[in-house]
Amino acid sequence: MTIFGKLTQKRSSGMSRFDINGNLLREHTYMYAISFEIAAFLLSLFCFLYCLIAKRKQYIPPKGVSNRVNDQHFQFLMMLLSIAVSSIVSVTGVFLTTLTGDAVLTFWKYFFHALYFIFHTTLSLAFGLYIVSVTGTDIKKNKILYLLFFLPYTIAEALILTNQWTNWCFFMDENSIYHRGVLMPLLYGLAAFYIVMGFIFFIRNMKAITRDDSIAVGVFIIIATIGIIVQAVRSDILVELFAEALACLVIMMVLEEKAGHVDQMTGLLNRFAFSENVRRMLASKSPFTIVAIQALGISSLIKRFNERSADQFLLQFATYLSLNSGEGTAYSYRRGEFLVLFKNDGKSPTDFASKVISRFDSPWRIGRVDVSMSVMAALVHSPEDIRDYDELEDFLASFAGYRKNQEGSYLVPDKDVKTMIQSRAYEDELQKVVKKKQLEVYFQPIYSLNEHRTVSAEALLRINVHPFTEVSPELYIPIAERTGLIYDIGLFVFEEVCKFLAAERTKATPIRYVELNLSVYQFLEPRLVDDFEKIRRRYGIDAGAINLEITETGGALDKNEVLATLKRFIEIGYTLSLDDFGTGYSNFVRMVRCQFENIKIDKSILWDLGEEKGGKQTLQSLASFIKLQGSRIVQEGVETKQQYDLVESCGADYIQGFYFSKPLTKEGFYDYLDREGATIHSA
Ligand code: C2E
Ligand code: MG
Ligand code: MG
Repeated sequence: MTIFGKLTQKRSSGMSRFDINGNLLREHTYMYAISFEIAAFLLSLFCFLYCLIAKRKQYIPPKGVSNRVNDQHFQFLMMLLSIAVSSIVSVTGVFLTTLTGDAVLTFWKYFFHALYFIFHTTLSLAFGLYIVSVTGTDIKKNKILYLLFFLPYTIAEALILTNQWTNWCFFMDENSIYHRGVLMPLLYGLAAFYIVMGFIFFIRNMKAITRDDSIAVGVFIIIATIGIIVQAVRSDILVELFAEALACLVIMMVLEEKAGHVDQMTGLLNRFAFSENVRRMLASKSPFTIVAIQALGISSLIKRFNERSADQFLLQFATYLSLNSGEGTAYSYRRGEFLVLFKNDGKSPTDFASKVISRFDSPWRIGRVDVSMSVMAALVHSPEDIRDYDELEDFLASFAGYRKNQEGSYLVPDKDVKTMIQSRAYEDELQKVVKKKQLEVYFQPIYSLNEHRTVSAEALLRINVHPFTEVSPELYIPIAERTGLIYDIGLFVFEEVCKFLAAERTKATPIRYVELNLSVYQFLEPRLVDDFEKIRRRYGIDAGAINLEITETGGALDKNEVLATLKRFIEIGYTLSLDDFGTGYSNFVRMVRCQFENIKIDKSILWDLGEEKGGKQTLQSLASFIKLQGSRIVQEGVETKQQYDLVESCGADYIQGFYFSKPLTKEGFYDYLDREGATIHSA
């Protein structure tokens, strides 16, 4: 008897079972085979529902936010859906083959075969697209290649849909038994195309995904391949879909779990999703622009109101960003810090940044009050500015601590963005120059309006070595702070100041004291006072000749250890100045609590008020308040005669600024004093 005959005979007896491809299923494997398909169905359905119901929750954005979900997530759902449908169709198909019957049954048998192929082909495509997403492969770069990528799928589906007339893929004979058509191998080949492509993309772009994730994808490919091979060898064991469902479960647990993460507070995609997407874009060399945005003054907001108000503001801001980012995707990176990723480098990121900054011209409604807030934004382009993720991380680390000496909202200048990106290179260079002591201290005259002469100077750090010559200390001081190098730098500056004060030549000038800058990071070091004292005693300098300038950065004066150190300095006889007064951090209460000899009004205040109508009154009332506290006023940043007159009439005590002189070398400073002395004498 022919095999065919055997089949028909067995089939008509109703005892044997056949798989969807019409192959005879051995009795003892029948339940076994179907069980795999049923398991595949249940497993993929479970994963599908879990993703949709449990994990989708993470994607439900706050009201008004249109959140873009990663393509990857949809492709994953598509894969699960294809497995679920293919397996249930297959189970139904196998069930139908056990029945004998009329034309209607033949129709349904045909129908389920076709349905199976439709979804099984979709599964291959979804797999290919999923790997494309995960590895960040940019298939859209080339329009023709992009269309070619979908061509095998289109051909395969067209073949199945037209099979009814052509019988090229498969057909049912008069006994309603399934037969493969001439083009069946092509159909398998077209589906295999995506598996092969996925594999190629995976190998090529493996570095775009983290180690754990690449292991997960690797395991996924291996399990699915084993399933396909087993089924090819033993067509009675319908294990392929089950293996694929199992592989999806692995992916769901490892990759999808993380990729779906969304910042719970703002509803935006989180930092993890950001790094994942950026790494992929870097790996695929797709150009992009990041608009980094940081809301300023969050800590003051918390102090003024409470944590909840800060959250309220951040949620509103996040919503605003999400609604206005156009083609960009907004991510919540750190509290108060957002990144908007644009996959193009056209005009829109720049326009978006300006729009965000101008939004801060008007206040934000927090609870029942309108609060003025400020923001800073920076544009980072790839590949122009950054080439790898490390550079971006360096930038983000510096960006968090970056502040321009300016009130209000601003766009960070490109020059500063570039410096922040190179901050690690700066760190290395800084380490070298500090070790080699290639540091210098310049002195900027401080003029007394009462005595009509220079009575003091501010000591300012200079590094006359590339690349520091070209940038302001405002940029490398934060790097020195972050790396701890500031401590040694501070000791160097302190020693130079002592040397200067101890020099006979200085003693012959009217200089009574020198001001030097101390950063909070120096105060946090318990040795500070002792180390300073050792140096001071060595040079025999009177503590009263040294004035320490402190900046009220980020609530520094709230820290007990900082206050304790300040107290010790005062007890010894040092005097203190509050630097950069008015830059958004200063707090009147603290100003009163720490006995400041001088309050240095920040240059930006003068520059802003000088232009405004009524600016004079504001400066006057600020001055009288400071005087009431018993402090003297030093006005920084006086550049013009006009500013000089304004400051004088407002009651300032001292003036520091380019109007008199820029910071000078020690020699330059002596010459300056000589010249000044000569003018006073000749007057
Ligand atoms: P700061 O303490 O507020 O110093 C005043 C800054 O304003 C100096 O900038 C000075 O050159 C500049 N300046 C003064 N008058 C004018 C003016 O009329 N016009 C303009 N455009 N600028 C004026 P510099 O030297 O670049 O220092 C920047 C900041 O770096 C300082 O701000 C200070 O915070 C920090 N810094 C400098 N040296 C040291 C140091 O030795 N230790 C620490 N911890 N910080 C330092
Ligand atoms: Mg200063
Ligand atoms: Mg200052």
